[in-house]
Amino acid sequence: MTKHAALWNPMADDSHPAGWISADAISLSKLIRQGIQPKPLQVCAGGTSSRCAADGLWTLDLRARHRQLIINEEGDEVEIGAGLTMAEVLEGLQTQGRSIPVGLSTVPGCGFVLTGGIGPLSRSQGLAMDHIVGLRGVWGNGDIFDLSVPANPASAGTAFSAGSDNQDETQQQWKGLLGAAPFLAVVTAIRLRTQRLTPLVIWRSVGSVQQLAIAVEAAEQWKHSASLQWAWNERIELFIACSADDPAAMTAVQTLKTLLGHCAESSMTIVPGQHAQPPFGALATSTAAKGRFHSEVISRLGPAWGQRLPSLLADLNQLMSERPHPGCQISAQQLGGMSSQVPVSRTSFIHRDAIWKPWINAVWNANDQEGRERALDWLFHANTILTESCPGVHLAQIHPHLSCHKAELNDAFQNWLPGLNQLKSHHDPYGLLPPL
Ligand SMILES: Cc1cc2nc3c(=O)[nH]c(=O)nc-3n(C[C@H](O)[C@H](O)[C@H](O)COP(=O)(O)OP(=O)(O)OC[C@H]3O[C@@H](n4cnc5c(N)ncnc54)[C@H](O)[C@@H]3O)c2cc1C
Repeated sequence: MTKHAALWNPMADDSHPAGWISADAISLSKLIRQGIQPKPLQVCAGGTSSRCAADGLWTLDLRARHRQLIINEEGDEVEIGAGLTMAEVLEGLQTQGRSIPVGLSTVPGCGFVLTGGIGPLSRSQGLAMDHIVGLRGVWGNGDIFDLSVPANPASAGTAFSAGSDNQDETQQQWKGLLGAAPFLAVVTAIRLRTQRLTPLVIWRSVGSVQQLAIAVEAAEQWKHSASLQWAWNERIELFIACSADDPAAMTAVQTLKTLLGHCAESSMTIVPGQHAQPPFGALATSTAAKGRFHSEVISRLGPAWGQRLPSLLADLNQLMSERPHPGCQISAQQLGGMSSQVPVSRTSFIHRDAIWKPWINAVWNANDQEGRERALDWLFHANTILTESCPGVHLAQIHPHLSCHKAELNDAFQNWLPGLNQLKSHHDPYGLLPPL
């Protein structure tokens, strides 16, 4: 057992785990074979989700031992230890003029990459996950693995794959780890393709519901690198990012600005890369939150909203007027472009047709049990409303402790869930890791 550093997520940080484990892959394999009780084992990489530590359970803390960052000679590949944050990865790559696409914040750890990794560059560069070329770690049964991207990953999971049994097995494992690793294995190191570090243009503003509707409608027509994200709290923040070397995207942003008319606190900045992005969501609240808050987040995935947009925005407006805590927020990120180019059969992120990822953040004051109930009721209500237009789930946060877990698994993996269960029966037969 080791003493642990504070966790970013206050709820996980306030929990009382059975203890903390810090181990390299070999020691972890031995520990698993000796038996870890009680189960499931919690895994903490960046420590930003509510379930990286929990009362009465052991937490494997990857942050202390898994911290390597090794860039190859050409600079086009990097191996990272699973205990690094995205900020640390970007900082290491910056020295070589390289980068990987990260999210709206660089705070998350490798859980971000393994569960998808959606960000302002997803439309131009794909998901963070789409850059993975190698994975090392330990299966839930204690077996150590070292996998590289299969030669023909496109056929993973199809009934017609023609490779040998070994190839088929590797393809299935690969597909399982990319998007469903938390249920199958502990990943200790990730090898990723890198991208050339390029400046980004970011336009931020505060707008009305009508202006949000105009922005969403325009964004659904975009065919270039620009992407829209928005955060709805006390106010609505619009946040558009595009590559500075993409004239079509720059023109589209200018056209949208004109369409929107006056927007309060509007500003355009050019930043050298994602490491220098302005903080998303900061414009959506006028007052800095005081106190210690706990929260749960559900993320959904769905196609372009088109005709459904007016009724969806009316529902969201109603929801926001009923939110039980000032911290409760609904936000969204735009997908499409490169993120839709990867075959569904290749990874466990099956919602490749998704254009929007809205997420609901339900917040309450720490130790306020009634506040928690109210916030969770609101979360589930918002989730039901969003399910209609966004039937998929992005399992960036797992909730085995909440009543929505089973429905989330179904909506995240759909007809790939039986395949995942088969993988789990081989690689985590005793349920060391969270249930599927
Ligand atoms: C401020 C902030 C901004 C965010 N922005 C975005 C965004 O723009 N886009 C987006 O897609 N998501 C975003 N997220 C969501 C975040 O990426 C996910 O919740 C992600 O799973 C967090 O990973 P972590 O390593 O930081 O957290 P952790 O809580 O340590 O891990 C999250 C889960 O993944 C599992 N896990 C983590 N590492 C491993 C591993 N190595 N092997 C096996 N299982 C593992 C854990 O069991 C845990 O359940 C954001 C979250 C925060 C807090």
